Amino acid sequence: MGTYRALVVHREGDALPRQIETLDEAALPEGDVLIEVHYSSLNYKDGLSAQGNPGVTRHFPHTPGIDASGIVLESRVPNFAPGDAVIVIGFDLGMGTAGGFGERIRVPAGWVVPCPKGLTLRSAMALGTAGFTAAECVDKLERMGGLAPAQGPVLVTGATGGVGSVAVMLLAQLGYDVVAVTGKAERADWLKGLGAGEVMTREALAQGASKPLLAERFAGAVDTVGGELLFNAVKSLRYGGSLAACGLVASPAIPATVLPFILRHVNLLGIDSVQWPLEEKTRLWGRLAQEWALPELETLVETLTLETVSDALDRILAGQMVGRGLLVHKAARG
Ligand code: NDP
Repeated sequence: MGTYRALVVHREGDALPRQIETLDEAALPEGDVLIEVHYSSLNYKDGLSAQGNPGVTRHFPHTPGIDASGIVLESRVPNFAPGDAVIVIGFDLGMGTAGGFGERIRVPAGWVVPCPKGLTLRSAMALGTAGFTAAECVDKLERMGGLAPAQGPVLVTGATGGVGSVAVMLLAQLGYDVVAVTGKAERADWLKGLGAGEVMTREALAQGASKPLLAERFAGAVDTVGGELLFNAVKSLRYGGSLAACGLVASPAIPATVLPFILRHVNLLGIDSVQWPLEEKTRLWGRLAQEWALPELETLVETLTLETVSDALDRILAGQMVGRGLLVHKAARG
């Protein structure tokens, strides 16, 4: 058994100090597959974990990181062998189980997806949970909401964030007319560079919150923020339109009435990437590797190391991260 480095969060009274530590592989949790982590990525939930949010992480010391890609070192199951390139996102990784901000993880085989042909360990984590969730939103909007580019514009909230920026890029690549909502006015040109046709301020979308319905504008929406903005987006859907709800950075509460649902036939679609069955995850990774591959994905990436990821955790909690934070571990640097 060897040692590895990890960012570890401790609980000391009300404080949650973080530091890089050298840990023993033997202290990793029980599991089927030991993985040498090459890449992880930064997600809002990692910020919540490091902040001690009890809905995410209850036991400390803890290594966050809900995402990991790497190479299998040891496997107790026949479907994985040493040397396999694999992806792990969601389930309990980085929540109660030591996560991808460590150079090793040990997890149940049921959490592990082979890295599909067309993706690399790096591109899989440039997407990570955030990019995967953006794709899950588009997948559900098309499959359950019947969304198609000809039906009209699609709104994306939290557009400069991880989920939002990948959603803008993917929708634009698929031929949708994308309206990006952001609190960062200075990033308007950046969002247009990703393919947004129009950039809207949060304040503009927040207008009319007291009205029961708003002008029918959007055929679909990807909402990453919740709260008033989510429901104003629902009230702005065209007849029969759909909104995929995946996030809560503004608020988990929705100030809602049934009116858009019973007068405009609109759909509110729920998105969970954590417990979504492995077969579905494998199917969607396959799409992201092939017909939904994003050639410009690297333009979203800010490279992080174990030394810089702690600062990025603070930035994501403050809503200041732009695009995707990609954590590159030593094994990936050779
Ligand atoms: P990010 O922090 O990268 O992005 C969130 C973005 O939302 C920010 O960049 C900012 O973009 C905007 N924002 C921040 N604060 C506010 C606010 N108070 N009001 C309105 N907008 C705000 O996070 P992620 O993209 O990683 O995650 C986004 C959300 O999706 C989180 O709530 C996360 O928990 C959730 N999520 C859910 C998943 C699921 O399985 N359901 C999986 C992955 C994520 P801008 O400045 O451009 O407006």
